[in-house]
Amino acid sequence: MCSERMNRLCDFIDRKVDDGTCLPIVNAAHSSMRNIGKFLVFFVYFISTFLAFTSFFIIIPYEQLYKPTWFLALLGVIGFYFLFMIQYHYYKARTIPPVQNPGEEGDAFCEKCNYWKSDRAHHCSVCERCVLGMDHHCIWINQCVGLHNHRHFFLFIANLTLAASIIIIAGYPSFYDHIFMETSENTYCTTILDNAPLQNVICDYDGFARTSVVFCYLLSGILLVMVGGLTMWNVYLISIGCTYIDYLRLTGTKRKTNARKRLNKGLKSNWKNFLGLRRNRSFFKCVILPTALPPILFENIHSHSDVFDVV
Ligand SMILES: [Zn+2]
Ligand SMILES: [Zn+2]
Repeated sequence: MCSERMNRLCDFIDRKVDDGTCLPIVNAAHSSMRNIGKFLVFFVYFISTFLAFTSFFIIIPYEQLYKPTWFLALLGVIGFYFLFMIQYHYYKARTIPPVQNPGEEGDAFCEKCNYWKSDRAHHCSVCERCVLGMDHHCIWINQCVGLHNHRHFFLFIANLTLAASIIIIAGYPSFYDHIFMETSENTYCTTILDNAPLQNVICDYDGFARTSVVFCYLLSGILLVMVGGLTMWNVYLISIGCTYIDYLRLTGTKRKTNARKRLNKGLKSNWKNFLGLRRNRSFFKCVILPTALPPILFENIHSHSDVFDVV
């Protein structure tokens, strides 16, 4: 009953969009999304700077009360690595445009672009173009995730999830001492710490250290749940060889499910294709190191072949 009503509502909205009645509202919504996206890009940089500052200058120096120096040095190195990888892949995901739709006569026709649309392309109303291998339009990078920037997007969220996990596990004593500050024996500002170059400056501002540690820890928890969930969902989709749009488009009937199964080249091949581990490219070079790769396209895009890489 509920879904019937929802379907009728969707049909009504589709009709109004098609006949142009809602066009000003739809255009305003897409324009707002683009503007919100610009703001969110700065927000991501602000949040990642805050997390890095709190981790390196408050949490790691404070953890010397609980952990050996060699372990904290290792945490510092790993932290720098993740910070660099997160910034690198975020920048690439945001600035590399997904591959343009290579459609040609005989393919489906996109009335919005007024051009032919190839099999694996999808029209994005916010970007106002057809995107090859489109996964979704992401307001956090202010463009579509599609063929070519999908790999960077995935490595960005995977590295962010791992970094948040490390803060949650390694920073728990700091969080505990500062959230229950009234009963704690030690806090960042009441302990003399070695290798804490900004301790005096930070502790000049009343409550700054406590607020930063608690907020950093809770934010890492939120990131772990939300970005971690998105990462796991992407892991599943990559493992079955399709994008989110493919999943939506090819779910429902047996014919659609069979078409989706044909995109699945097997777990190992799907991951190798997605990460670009072809032509003698190694996992170390393409995943562990920050590496940008040229897109690998269809072997023969117009033969409706299933050979397709999402890089
Ligand atoms: Zn289009
Ligand atoms: Zn888009």
